[in-house]
Amino acid sequence: MQKIDERRRITVDRRAFNHYEIACPFCGENVGPRFVTREHLDIPPNPPYAATVRCPRCKEEFEVLFGAS
Ligand SMILES: [Zn+2]
Repeated sequence: MQKIDERRRITVDRRAFNHYEIACPFCGENVGPRFVTREHLDIPPNPPYAATVRCPRCKEEFEVLFGAS
């Protein structure tokens, strides 16, 4: 039962994220750069590659991977 909750890692278009068009996978609240708690540089190809986001409504944290757009 080590499987990570798949909702905690989503791949999104970075531009959409920057425009708050990405919905929290837990409650549907729109999230964007203001709610990033940590950026990650360890996943290619373009920095920043991923970020940890904390939803302002439900307070869940999840990983946002920036896919090619
Ligand atoms: Zn939420």
